[in-house]
Amino acid sequence: MSFKSLGLSDALVKAVEQKGYTTPSPIQEKAIPLVLEGKDVLASAQTGTGKTAGFTLPMLQILNQSPQKHNRPIRALVLAPTRELAAQVHENVREYSEFLDIKSTVIFGGVNQNPQVRTIRSGIDILVATPGRLLDLIDQKVLTLKNVEILVLDEADRMLDMGFLRDIKKLLAMMPTKKQSLL
Ligand code: AMP
Repeated sequence: MSFKSLGLSDALVKAVEQKGYTTPSPIQEKAIPLVLEGKDVLASAQTGTGKTAGFTLPMLQILNQSPQKHNRPIRALVLAPTRELAAQVHENVREYSEFLDIKSTVIFGGVNQNPQVRTIRSGIDILVATPGRLLDLIDQKVLTLKNVEILVLDEADRMLDMGFLRDIKKLLAMMPTKKQSLL
């Protein structure tokens, strides 16, 4: 099995190969084709099994299939429970989108918000965020979620354990009901 045979584009296969991966992991083999079909997917696997690429690669392909809008509203949102995980996911998004016309950034609390605000205002397609800082910036009208097409809840179980249910419900109410959801 190859990444190409899962339906990924040459630009994504090239980015994956650049990281040194040649064969999809079991969760990638299962998840990538379903996400590319536009299905909602709930996947569970231990850390270190390649989950991040399992949702990031098809998400990038779907976004890249329709042209980026001029003002670049946020089209995909990845929520993560901790700043470390958010930063790690964004690093993956950045690496895998190297050969695509896709912009992304990451926001989390505990640091000055001004650089994050500037980047968001410059226009991005994919936002990786922790729930608290995201709600803060929405309250300040820095961004809106009304154009979100793909929502990823990374480590959703841990987010619930950490008490993020209320925040997640608030955020869900700000997004279109018609969207693709990945957990
Ligand atoms: P994750 O489970 O997403 O945290 O990924 C665990 C580690 O495996 C990360 O260092 C990835 O860069 C790496 N990885 C992801 N997909 C593959 C793959 N298909 N082959 C080899 N390593 C991979």
